[in-house]
Amino acid sequence: MEELKSLVIEIIRGTTHDGPGLRTTVFFKGCPLSCRWCQNPEGMKGGQEIWWEERKCIRCLECVAACPEGALHEDAEGIHIDRAKCTLCGACVETCPSQAMAFIGEEWTVSGLVEEVLKYKEYYQAFDGGVTVSGGEPLAHAPFVTEFFQRLKAEGVHTALDTCGLASLDALRPVLAYTDHVLFDIKFIDPSMHQHYTHRSNEIILQNLALIAETIRERRDKAMKLWIRTPLIPGATASEENIAAIGRYIRDNLPGLVERWELCAFNPICKSKYKKLELPWAYADCALMEQETVDRLKQAALSTGLASEMLVVSGLVASL
Ligand code: SF4
Ligand code: SF4
Repeated sequence: MEELKSLVIEIIRGTTHDGPGLRTTVFFKGCPLSCRWCQNPEGMKGGQEIWWEERKCIRCLECVAACPEGALHEDAEGIHIDRAKCTLCGACVETCPSQAMAFIGEEWTVSGLVEEVLKYKEYYQAFDGGVTVSGGEPLAHAPFVTEFFQRLKAEGVHTALDTCGLASLDALRPVLAYTDHVLFDIKFIDPSMHQHYTHRSNEIILQNLALIAETIRERRDKAMKLWIRTPLIPGATASEENIAAIGRYIRDNLPGLVERWELCAFNPICKSKYKKLELPWAYADCALMEQETVDRLKQAALSTGLASEMLVVSGLVASL
């Protein structure tokens, strides 16, 4: 039988924020949400894509000449890709002398990916870490991730699932069977706000969170850990009302089950990725958050009575 394959946009070694200890994080391509602020836009669309990187381009125009579909043209701003015409033949990628034209991500087999991440097994063991799957949305690759985690568990490697939570129960259940740690995004409690900013309701997401809570309760040793993550997005999630609503949800629905609730301050560092994809981004000129704003949101979180030890604020804030 042919091995499962999945598109991986990036493998980052030595991560320290995607679960406990020192880890390798694997980012899968494709996500069922379309968050307006998405920090990994190259991971939103499932399937292969190409992009062009201005910084690497020497404007030789070899790519334009090589394209059999006439899908590329140059102007003062750079090389543009007509995605309606592009057949992803790869001729431009092959011909580009400076890797400015590139496929986003790479297809991996489960065996290949297991072999790759196991190169750092000693580090995971020495620094209480492991392997995290992220994205995009790793549950969009559930059969692949299930087998990947199963094989890592057989090697004694700690596994973490970083998820937006939107997936079918049939996708989530088998992955959870081999998961030691879940990082779960809660962006909004209000379904209409969730729909507005992510283009999908949070109904299934909260049902899946309930399943994860049930799984933790059922595992007698309470071995699976749960971290909640909330991106602080100016004008969207970053309101005291929303943060307090999420805090109350955690307090009332997940008592004693959440080890950490992380408020992740927005930054616009991914702006260049939108440029490479030639996509408009409403947050391109959005500044870093002020410390005072972050402090107010933290207070809103604590006002719900959750323990201060479980609350973590991460990300850059504006300096005075
Ligand atoms: S991948 Fe092929 S069709 Fe698409 S822009 Fe490059 S050369 Fe043209
Ligand atoms: S072939 Fe590469 S370096 Fe040359 S113009 Fe195209 S993208 Fe730029």
